[in-house]
Amino acid sequence: MELADKCLNCKPEKRVKNLQSSSLCPLCKGEKQAGKTTFTVGLGFGVVVVRDVPAIVCSQCGADWITDNIAEKLEKLVKEAKSKHHQVKIISFLEDAA
Ligand SMILES: [Zn+2]
Repeated sequence: MELADKCLNCKPEKRVKNLQSSSLCPLCKGEKQAGKTTFTVGLGFGVVVVRDVPAIVCSQCGADWITDNIAEKLEKLVKEAKSKHHQVKIISFLEDAA
């Protein structure tokens, strides 16, 4: 389902798939560019927001994709935040994943 791309709570793996499938945005056929995105993950009891995540971003509609490598680091950050049970946790990818 292409709609998953717009879902902020979807798992990173879902977005990674689309990165390899095409160099054009599957949603609007716009051009993909290297950029940064903010990743939001719902945890049930709270939410983790990761800022400054390196991503491929559509120049037209703003849809974004991340690489396997980034997804792995993201997952670690989210797990860490989850274990601390913050209701709202805002992380900078560049500072915390380094
Ligand atoms: Zn697009």
